[in-house]
Amino acid sequence: MNSLLADIAVIGGGPAGLMAAETLSAAGAQVHLFDAMPSVGRKFLLAGRGGLNLTHSEAAEPFASRFGERRAQVEPWLAALGPQQLREWAHGLGVETFVGTSGRVFPKDMKAAPLLRAWLHRLRAAGVQFHMRHRWLGVLDANADMPGAPWTLGFAAPAGDVAVQARAVVLALGGGSWARLGSDGAWVPWLADRGVGVAPLLPANCGFDVGWSPYFSERFAGQPFKSVAIEFRDSRGRAFTHRKGEFIATASGVEGSLIYAASGLLRDEIAAHGSADLMVDLLPDRSAEQVRAEVLHPRGSRSLANHLKGRLGLEGIKSALLFEVLGREGMHDMERVAAAIKALPLKLMAARPIDEAISSAGGVRLDALDARLMARALPGVFCAGEMLDWEAPTGGYLLTASMASGVVAARGSLDWLAQPRA
Ligand SMILES: Cc1cc2nc3c(=O)[nH]c(=O)nc-3n(C[C@H](O)[C@H](O)[C@H](O)COP(=O)(O)OP(=O)(O)OC[C@H]3O[C@@H](n4cnc5c(N)ncnc54)[C@H](O)[C@@H]3O)c2cc1C
Repeated sequence: MNSLLADIAVIGGGPAGLMAAETLSAAGAQVHLFDAMPSVGRKFLLAGRGGLNLTHSEAAEPFASRFGERRAQVEPWLAALGPQQLREWAHGLGVETFVGTSGRVFPKDMKAAPLLRAWLHRLRAAGVQFHMRHRWLGVLDANADMPGAPWTLGFAAPAGDVAVQARAVVLALGGGSWARLGSDGAWVPWLADRGVGVAPLLPANCGFDVGWSPYFSERFAGQPFKSVAIEFRDSRGRAFTHRKGEFIATASGVEGSLIYAASGLLRDEIAAHGSADLMVDLLPDRSAEQVRAEVLHPRGSRSLANHLKGRLGLEGIKSALLFEVLGREGMHDMERVAAAIKALPLKLMAARPIDEAISSAGGVRLDALDARLMARALPGVFCAGEMLDWEAPTGGYLLTASMASGVVAARGSLDWLAQPRA
């Protein structure tokens, strides 16, 4: 077996682990970074495919509110690396950013690859040593023989098993979505067995199954619902208030930014009650009175579909959804049709599997960590990134908090290493 001695081992080379490595090496620590995959930052690169939304330009107050019930714990991370500092960090790597119309912040060329390339170049120049194809196997043994190097970590590597002795460890193993990019959540039982509280990983920013009729699925899968609004109130009274945006019909249900924004509430409601009734407003720019007047307007010999198209511009996928949900019978009742156009109940039956989700909720419970993000049950072992138990909508919040927690965990491990020991 090969062995290696490191000041600090960072396991996981996503944005959280890379930011931890950067913070550590900048402070002069000798950092070894291990990742199971042949290269680091694979999810970061994927995030860049649709335009890398690095962070958000909104003020600190609304920004912090995006972390919901975890706001109080996440705010100190944002104090360590906030959205503005993240933009400056990107500029420092030669990547200019801009604020899109939605307030989201992107690199000027929208891409992740140039940013990652420049970042890795700088990390290597700073002395960070990368060990690719090193899969941590959950081995974390207290190292009684070597004072000051409390942990022996076990990795599977191409040339055989590798034992690494480290004085501090930063775990940045990611959540449970898109396992093929490296974050497979295999670490959950390993840490739970070591007494670290872990909440089950759940899909976040995910799609949902509705169970369309074959007709709807075949005709409309892949088509967008544009300029609609959704709202939702769960059985505990928590509400996603009427918000305009877009989403997409999939073969089995719905996905897309507007759905993702409500997905935490919808997921929890389905888990508790078996389904969730989402309200869709098909014409958010028209009042209920206007819609009712147009629907009830005499239509002569026109078909109902042509009547709705002519009077309200309701056609295509929107009109099809109305027919899909109300059925032939319901479409005879004009009062019902008018009401449904403004509040169409769409029954969501299941969240899509976690592997398809943009991110995951659950993970290492924040009360299992101290303020430095050190596991209370494993002194000297720190955790960062999406593997922690917080969630946020899309909009750059995921990357910002992942990277910010990487800074906090790195500072925590420096602090830990500087502590005098008996
Ligand atoms: C399609 C898509 C688009 C996205 N777009 C955006 C966006 O625009 N803006 C945004 O803010 N967020 C976006 N995200 C989310 C964002 O990419 C993640 O939240 C972020 O990458 C999490 O960073 P992380 O470092 O915690 O984990 P990850 O990036 O998942 O990295 C974890 C690393 O740990 C390694 N690892 C795991 N287990 C082991 C092991 N046992 N041994 C060794 N290594 C291991 C993995 O190989 C991986 O490299 C997107 C996600 C997806 C899927």
